[in-house]
Amino acid sequence: MLHSILDTLELPVERRHFLFRSTQTLLSAALIASMAGYETNASELLNPQNTSAAGPVDKISLPPLEAQTEQKKGPLPNPEPMEKRIGYAIVGLGHLALEQVLPSFGACEKSKITALVSGNRDKALTVAKQYGVSEKSIYDYQNFDSIKNNPDVDVVYIILPNCMHAEFTIRSAKAGKHVLCEKPMANTVAECEQMIKACEDAKRKLMIAYRIQYEPNNTEIKKMVREETYGKVKSIVAVNGQNIGDPSQWRLNKKLAGGGSLPDVGIYCLNTIRFLIGEEPVEVYAQITTDTADPRFKEVEDVVNFQLTFPGGLRAMCGTSYSHHQSRNYRVYAERAFFGMDPAFAYGGLQMHRSFAQDESEIYETPKRTAKNQFALEIDHMSDCVRTDKKPFTPGEEGLQDMKIIEALYLSARENRPVQLKKYEGKDLFRGSTPEK
Ligand code: NDP
Repeated sequence: MLHSILDTLELPVERRHFLFRSTQTLLSAALIASMAGYETNASELLNPQNTSAAGPVDKISLPPLEAQTEQKKGPLPNPEPMEKRIGYAIVGLGHLALEQVLPSFGACEKSKITALVSGNRDKALTVAKQYGVSEKSIYDYQNFDSIKNNPDVDVVYIILPNCMHAEFTIRSAKAGKHVLCEKPMANTVAECEQMIKACEDAKRKLMIAYRIQYEPNNTEIKKMVREETYGKVKSIVAVNGQNIGDPSQWRLNKKLAGGGSLPDVGIYCLNTIRFLIGEEPVEVYAQITTDTADPRFKEVEDVVNFQLTFPGGLRAMCGTSYSHHQSRNYRVYAERAFFGMDPAFAYGGLQMHRSFAQDESEIYETPKRTAKNQFALEIDHMSDCVRTDKKPFTPGEEGLQDMKIIEALYLSARENRPVQLKKYEGKDLFRGSTPEK
């Protein structure tokens, strides 16, 4: 059969010979592959681009390179065509936007950058060229409201200093845009409530960018906690701290940041523990230690140690700081194992660990998953919610609940006493739809 096909081709003898030999090699490879249990066939090997007489296919697949016994890589990325994707305006072109968020759109499958908002036009022009954004779609903080006339913008992603989150969420909702807002949601509970109301009134989605809750390692730990894989959880310890520099930056200005290490990085301990167990603390207790002679801490707190008590009696001990070497980890202590992440809250290189007894050994494992871009997963979840009219997994109500707990922690530290919180029955009370991935 193959001979006759080749015979019909009018090719020079040498090329026909080469093609015949190559085809034989491919067919042999297919035979070996099928003997090894691969899901592949000769036509895939001959036609690796998945083209067909019918034209391009919707989804590309490739035969696996490794044996089935090797670590799975997951499906190939399956990005949507650009014209179908949800469009984002990025507001505030600082560290997070330029170092993490904008590059992560390259890993998004359902989302694209369609506008930029910045107080620095020259910077915005450069970034617009880098990411293919039209010059017409660059705004500043004064003319921002005219974004309502830009049909290419579905979602506004707010990456501004904390004190500006409420104002720009409300302005975005009034402009008819959905909002993805960085953490902490705002500086006060009252601001969070105004943001939720503005988005409800405008019938727009509001999601808080809690990237850790879209990250596969942390999601795996949550499963181990919820399914009691190693028995009941008895205690959790979490730390997220870093050594901050320039005393003049907005993070160290109370009016701009709302607080110090607690709302900036301590919030990860708080909302990750709430994510893992799904319950709301009924009591909190905090102690703050700040060296006010340090020029960085004239206005905001440095070290915060805090305890969260949950309805079943489980206690979590948390620590945050702006003056120790960066450390971002948590550990869950269960009846038959301890497990957790270190680092847990970093942008990359997240590492799970677990330890349990087996016969005469104590096993300590550090499973390494195929890395996924947590920003891209989070942004694509927002796009899913916009497209299918679902409430995001981390909606405004989640950010509000964290802010209520943070305010209770400040009260506790000020008055040096435990503070009781409203009791809730049930789990995951403030969450929206579970992410697809
Ligand atoms: P940066 O200071 O690096 O950037 C903030 C940007 O906001 C500036 O570059 C500027 O952009 C704009 N801006 C507008 N007004 C002001 C002002 N008065 N002072 C300073 N900047 C202003 O901050 P980050 O990017 O680190 O943080 C931004 C937000 O993202 C914060 O809410 C922070 O908590 C959050 N964040 C979240 C992280 C996460 O992992 N989810 C990690 C880091 C931060 P322009 O020049 O374009 O106007």
